[in-house]
Amino acid sequence: MHPKNPACSPQPKKRHHYLQELQQPLQPEERLYRVVTDGMCIGCGLCQSIAGPEKIQMRLVENLTQRPVATGSLDGETVDRIYRTCPGTRIEGLPEEQIEADSHSDRIWGVWRQLALVWAAEPQVRYRSSTGGVLTALALYLLEQKEVDFILHAKSSRQYPAFGQHAISRTRADVLVAAGSRYGPTATLADILGILEQAETSGETFAFIGTPCDVTGLRNLATEDPRVDACCRYRLAMVCGGFMTPVALRRFLAEIGVEWGELQSLRYRGYGCPGPTRIETRDGQVIEKNYLDFWGDNEAAWQLPFRCKVCADGIGDAADVAAADTWDGGSPTREGQADDPGQNAVILRSRRGQALLEKAEAAGYIVTGSALTPRDLDRFQPHQVAKKKAVWARFVGMRNANCIVPEVARLRLKPLARAQSVAENLREARGARERCRKQRNQEDLPCPID
Ligand SMILES: Cc1cc2nc3c(=O)[nH]c(=O)nc-3n(C[C@H](O)[C@H](O)[C@H](O)COP(=O)(O)OP(=O)(O)OC[C@H]3O[C@@H](n4cnc5c(N)ncnc54)[C@H](O)[C@@H]3O)c2cc1C
Repeated sequence: MHPKNPACSPQPKKRHHYLQELQQPLQPEERLYRVVTDGMCIGCGLCQSIAGPEKIQMRLVENLTQRPVATGSLDGETVDRIYRTCPGTRIEGLPEEQIEADSHSDRIWGVWRQLALVWAAEPQVRYRSSTGGVLTALALYLLEQKEVDFILHAKSSRQYPAFGQHAISRTRADVLVAAGSRYGPTATLADILGILEQAETSGETFAFIGTPCDVTGLRNLATEDPRVDACCRYRLAMVCGGFMTPVALRRFLAEIGVEWGELQSLRYRGYGCPGPTRIETRDGQVIEKNYLDFWGDNEAAWQLPFRCKVCADGIGDAADVAAADTWDGGSPTREGQADDPGQNAVILRSRRGQALLEKAEAAGYIVTGSALTPRDLDRFQPHQVAKKKAVWARFVGMRNANCIVPEVARLRLKPLARAQSVAENLREARGARERCRKQRNQEDLPCPID
């Protein structure tokens, strides 16, 4: 158990209303916290980088996730910049100038130039990685063929073994250490401005691998900071259905007899597809559980943060390349896992992303299998399809309950909602509104416990 910070007195859940804001504008710190209290913070850490760690720090807070905590006095301009770039307040698809006239566009899956089954050519890379190892293999190609100087992505957190932390990889060994999915809080962008500054000074370039939210944050930042496009050559994303709430994770650990504080390491998946969830404790115990024991046998069992339940882009709409799992129905079966070598579905969205895959294949890093169609992706990702169709109505409900709703562009949410029945849209909108009215989206003001 983490000790409670005595500086934090119990706080009533605090709600803000747009109307109240008009009458009495929120202070910069209150505006920052509103993203958190309305349940829209994903914990990417971009705000820490924008304000600087002397003003905002990503800290472990009472709900056991990482949230921004104001550690210095914030000004309105800084918080305005945070609102313009935060993936909780602004989400856009591929920049218009990168949408080629001959690209396809699917209502669900967005802009694409090529869809295919793909896997890492090296069996060890394929085995070790989450699915077919395409993200790891592309990172290896980019580094070893000297297309970029480093990869910015995520690896297991040293401080909190269930979490991720941002990682800069310059060697094969670094890249392999970071292979696999981190299904816990991961502040991939916590030092992005420092990294950009260093890259610009030393004339280095990099490729970025992250969740769709991370790519959104980076794209948003690029609209204000030219160093992003100057230094970041590629943006790769995994298709993301959300991560497990740390509270649910603690419950899972308790059920298998592991105390949170006893955790030494947690590998969510990899070493097979999906591979076992492997837990090591400080006293040397090793427990391996089936992926389905961890996540549950069906989607309804997934314990996700509110932000992930109303995600407008889980499919890497803004990435050059997005990589996904390929199980029919969205989950592996227990029987099928033993001999599954893993293959990714990839969505190549930009000309740059398509060229990257071609070059990596020609250099022997990647194997490309059969072509896919958007309807194949529907089969692999029914949860993404359902969410994409429902999000516009959920946003209507959230707005109705005076909660923060992200500004969106090029995500096709409205046309998708129009194709739904009125009854379906009403159900989604009312559900989200009730959830917000009952404050089930709400998080407490972030109170650090680390
Ligand atoms: C939170 C989360 C939710 C997901 N939900 C889905 C889903 O709904 N549908 C689906 O098809 N696939 C989902 N995946 C993706 C899937 O698990 C694989 O990551 C994806 O198929 C890529 O496989 P790969 O073998 O190429 O990855 P690998 O070769 O193992 O490479 C993974 C790369 O992602 C980076 N990474 C891992 N975790 C994080 C993180 N939390 N934040 C930033 N970077 C990270 C690593 O540094 C590594 O570079 C999810 C992954 C995560 C992390």
